[in-house]
Amino acid sequence: MSQAVYLDYNATARVRPEAAAAVAHALEVGGNPSSVHAAGRAARALVEQAREAVAAMIAAPVSTVIFTSGGTEANALAIESAVAAGARRLIVSAIEHDSVRETARAQGVAVETLPVTRDGIADLDWLRARLRAWDPADGQPFVALMLANNETGVIQPVAEAAELVRAAGGWLHVDAVQAAGKMPIDSRALGADTLSVSAHKIGGPQGVGALTFGPRATMSRRQHGGGQERGRRGGTENVLGISGFGAAASIPVSPDRNSAWRDAAAARLKSVGAVIMGEAAPRLANTLCVATPELASDLQVMGLDLARVMVSAGSACSSGKVKASPVLQAMGQGDLAGCAIRVSGGWDTTEGDWNRFVEAWFEVHGRHAARRRPVGANA
Ligand code: PLP
Repeated sequence: MSQAVYLDYNATARVRPEAAAAVAHALEVGGNPSSVHAAGRAARALVEQAREAVAAMIAAPVSTVIFTSGGTEANALAIESAVAAGARRLIVSAIEHDSVRETARAQGVAVETLPVTRDGIADLDWLRARLRAWDPADGQPFVALMLANNETGVIQPVAEAAELVRAAGGWLHVDAVQAAGKMPIDSRALGADTLSVSAHKIGGPQGVGALTFGPRATMSRRQHGGGQERGRRGGTENVLGISGFGAAASIPVSPDRNSAWRDAAAARLKSVGAVIMGEAAPRLANTLCVATPELASDLQVMGLDLARVMVSAGSACSSGKVKASPVLQAMGQGDLAGCAIRVSGGWDTTEGDWNRFVEAWFEVHGRHAARRRPVGANA
């Protein structure tokens, strides 16, 4: 039987050997980073070394990196801090991850949606006009705009948005969870006031992430406790996860070979009517979001899974259910939202993996096309 093909890196990346080795090493070191004895100091050294690596990955000052339990918590820390600092109205882009959208909605303040174009790019004219008309009674404007979308891979004009937000005296939160490891990130040059990343999207372990904050962001305490993370997040640090995160973050971003293989696969699918989402926009090199009219996402995902090729339908959600993608709906592609799949490669993906995907996909497509063909029609 042929080997399984994993093309779902945007859901979670395969763990890098360097990260696995760092986790194993941290297990051996043991120790609580808050203890003053030798074992504690050794654990503290691992945490601080990892903090330096994560800070370097996003070009942030080391002292501004707060470790969290993942991208979800990092996003929540940013949003809750903005609300605690007085934000009464949050602007959240239509394509944000649920961890941003749902956290914003749960704050008990007004939430507005920053629309996107058909290519999935944030509409900055809308943002400019909205910020110009801002009512000071709504407090400091808060805007959440991700760096790259998890479903389409479309890269957002964050630096331009930051200029608008800054001119309005606002706070820009950038979810860089999908962009990290796939493109260079300079959080300060981008103009982010807060920026979140997650280890498991870059080949580190699951359950660890980080938030960096700039001088204009007033961070609040998310978790009370023993004063860890400079008092911003109590609780004994996840030394294993943080060590693995640091190791993965230390691996430089190199040109992604997936890009050419992805485009070749896309061209073949397009030849039978598939539509590439965000094709005209700048995109992450590893991501293909492709919709096939009249071929439901779940049929594609399950058919490919039977052929031992793993992809996903829209963003993976915790229930494992396949639901029509709100991201594609926001792009005005609602008709195709139920027919889209996301194929995403990573650091150990090969050209052969993409070819296997294409072959398996054509089998699924052919099977369903045959079923749709009216009785008596010519083959
Ligand atoms: N933000 C984006 C864009 C994501 O794709 C994800 C995960 O899918 C998250 C946040 C959540 O990160 P985590 O799984 O580390 O909580």
